[in-house]
Amino acid sequence: MTIIKKGLLGLSILLLAVVIVVLVRTITFTPETYQPSPDTTMVSPDGSVIAQHLSQAIQIQTISYERAEDRDRTEFQKFITWLASTYPEVHKNLTLTLLNDYTLLFKWRGHASSKPSVLYSAHYDVVPINPGTESQWQHPPFAGVIQDGIIWGRGALDDKSAVIALMESVTLLLETSYTPEQDIYIAFTHDEEIGSQFGAKAVAEYFTNQNIKLAWSLDEGSFILDGLVPGSDKRVASINVAEKGFLTLELIAKGEGGHSSMPPQDTAVSILAEAIVNVKNSPVPGGLEGLGETMYTNIAKHMDFFKRMLFANQWLFKPLIEASVSQSPAGNAMLRTTTAPTMLSGSVKANVLPATATATINFRIHPRDTIESVTSWVEAAIDDSRITIKTSQAFKPSNVANSENQGFKNIAAVTRDVQGDIIVTPGLTIAATDSQFYSKITDAYRFNPMNLTPAYLSGFHGTNERIDIKNMEDAVKFYTRLMRQPAQ
Ligand SMILES: [Zn+2]
Repeated sequence: MTIIKKGLLGLSILLLAVVIVVLVRTITFTPETYQPSPDTTMVSPDGSVIAQHLSQAIQIQTISYERAEDRDRTEFQKFITWLASTYPEVHKNLTLTLLNDYTLLFKWRGHASSKPSVLYSAHYDVVPINPGTESQWQHPPFAGVIQDGIIWGRGALDDKSAVIALMESVTLLLETSYTPEQDIYIAFTHDEEIGSQFGAKAVAEYFTNQNIKLAWSLDEGSFILDGLVPGSDKRVASINVAEKGFLTLELIAKGEGGHSSMPPQDTAVSILAEAIVNVKNSPVPGGLEGLGETMYTNIAKHMDFFKRMLFANQWLFKPLIEASVSQSPAGNAMLRTTTAPTMLSGSVKANVLPATATATINFRIHPRDTIESVTSWVEAAIDDSRITIKTSQAFKPSNVANSENQGFKNIAAVTRDVQGDIIVTPGLTIAATDSQFYSKITDAYRFNPMNLTPAYLSGFHGTNERIDIKNMEDAVKFYTRLMRQPAQ
């Protein structure tokens, strides 16, 4: 046998071995089979009552405007009074503490009060209607119209639906004389849409100051994604265990100024433009690892043979997967810190050279990075002493909550018990929520147990926000069951 023949034979054996490994790994890359919990006690929520209550809640205009003078505090007061008259049993049996006048914190005392408590949280402030879009709403945004099984209006999804579902759940459990094991706290915050500085922040400080230990917390931050995960026909409950940080950098270029008829080689604007292009061309490194890898792997187990083959064999196909996932903006945001140039300014007149030109770039920091690491990455990408970099706003990514503990297991199991056999996975919240503060003191989970379809998604901070009654009933089934589980 010649050397070439020997080589070819060796190569064929190697190839065959690779194919066998790839196939075996693919065939064994399957999801765990789902077992419904033996406890199948379900409450029977009354959808029409829940819908009426959500409709009334929507009609109270608790709008968080950016400017303090625009905010109507009487509406927030009205909401608190309305809650008390609508849910008298909750107010009678739970103790209520008001934090910074408008954030409500209920305590439901358990019979084993010494055990770590659980916090449920939702916010009752809403974003304003985008000016000019009023006429695009099928029903007026603050009328709370109920039609054909759907409740319409600002806050129907984000996040009065959770406030109402939680209040209905506690009411139903109180009717059955249920007392939780550990203490349950329920927070309704009032400034989530404008940074949570007086709501969730105060709630977290309350627990620290009172020395109350939490087993875990559950707040908004994701949904059951229905038709929103590319490549997955199954619904995906993404129980998010972390949220991204935020960094806004200002790039400032200085120039000589003067008349534009005899410009120097470079003006402040051209120096700045080059810097922006350099930042854009050096995306912050990322990849399929940690949380992103867990999430995609969990989902891929339910996909077709080809995709399962790729994800089961990351040792071989990782670069291919990463290139494909980062093609979509949503996929890219899961893998890395994102870069978004958003604002620019230069000279005030067409024929005047700018003395300074500035650009604003917004980064959403992945938990793998820090404010400092992203800033140095950008400095190195620009590498130009004519550019000054200033940090105008920054907060770091949250801690990552444990997805192996009882809290996560309870949320996952109850979601499946109510929704059937759907995919459940830990995930990452791309925006900021109240949990940025809760995650400093406990394992903070971010999940609302409602189905979100592409049609409903556009209502989020947009037009025609709405939710259907079936989703509200399922949410009540979810919370009542979850509250009955031992937290640890
Ligand atoms: Zn929200």
